[in-house]
Amino acid sequence: MNPQVNAQPILVTGGSGFIASWIVKMLLEKGHTVHATVRSKAKTQKYQHLEEIAANSSGSLKIFEADLLKEGSFAEAMAGCGIVMHTASPFVVQGVKNGEEELVKPALLGTRNVLNSATTTPTVQRIVLTSSVVALYGDASEGRDRGGKLDESMWNATSSVKNGPYNYSKTVAEKEAWKIAETQTQWDLVTINPSFVLGPSLTQNSNSASLTLMKQIMDGTFKSGVPELYFGVVDVRDVAQAHLEAAFRPTAQGRHIVSNEASVSMLDIADFIREKYGTQLKLPKSQLPKFMLYLLGPFIGFTWKYVSNNVGIALTFENQKAKSALGMTFRSPKEAVQAHAESMIAAGVVALGK
Ligand code: NDP
Repeated sequence: MNPQVNAQPILVTGGSGFIASWIVKMLLEKGHTVHATVRSKAKTQKYQHLEEIAANSSGSLKIFEADLLKEGSFAEAMAGCGIVMHTASPFVVQGVKNGEEELVKPALLGTRNVLNSATTTPTVQRIVLTSSVVALYGDASEGRDRGGKLDESMWNATSSVKNGPYNYSKTVAEKEAWKIAETQTQWDLVTINPSFVLGPSLTQNSNSASLTLMKQIMDGTFKSGVPELYFGVVDVRDVAQAHLEAAFRPTAQGRHIVSNEASVSMLDIADFIREKYGTQLKLPKSQLPKFMLYLLGPFIGFTWKYVSNNVGIALTFENQKAKSALGMTFRSPKEAVQAHAESMIAAGVVALGK
């Protein structure tokens, strides 16, 4: 990489999102010029927090409008940039009616648009793509059947537009990114593959499932119990740090699982919050028996297939590459969960009661 890259602006797509806001903050605090894209510049409340961070940092921020679905939309924001961090992609798992339109198209076409623009922007040397561990496995049974320990050599083989459309969107988008990367030599691609991202949020104006699921755990939605589902968890500050390491380390290459190694259950997440707030929140205290999920499943959006292929299956995440190649250490799931709960309470999203 040309050392000049440090002085050039850095593009962060979807700059006002949950994860991207931390990336932008860290870049600004290191004195970089950040070009952040948002879908609508008119919705100032979505990115006001970034302008406040910029005002108190040594870096500078420029906001651009860009849409994943519009070809060439990112070209203006990318002009003159050395590094592109492509985070924009919808992260919605509940209430999806049309997986193709709502998830797959923006993820896939957006990746194509951003990466094709990079090839026609001669300053771009590196692209850091925010992928996901769901590009490695779809149903938890797939991970279990491949030994229970996930690593960067794996690709999701069970998701589809109908079965796990979000997971499928991330898989096809990352595959497309590697395909486009191979057609040129001007820039190189590094991917960050986080598990479920939690931690303090700099914005509550995000539709990220990280924020919506945590709100549901805290606001009583699951007070009669949670399904026995397991996730890898990683703190949002560590995910942002991994993006910076992937961007500036000349030797960084390939995919990186960014996660704590052991997965935690939804009930573990509730227990971490309970440890801090006791009975002040209506937290779930138990796991729903599997037979009840089979009965209730159709009414709460869980197919029988989903229940049988996901409930009760814990996995582990091989995070050695992120530690050795990117120098990462990871905050524990408990620290991430408790900091997340604290930031939601401070922002008034969830109220403490008796
Ligand atoms: P957010 O919803 O906060 O961020 C998503 C961003 O994508 C938003 O800025 C959103 O803009 C933008 N976006 C969505 N659709 C479009 C579109 N059509 N055109 C332009 N921008 C669009 O979610 P997260 O911060 O959680 O997710 C960021 C990235 O990280 C995503 O790629 C996600 O898949 C990935 N990821 C997230 C994980 C998590 O647990 N949170 C785990 C692993 C990966 P707008 O505000 O206008 O909607």
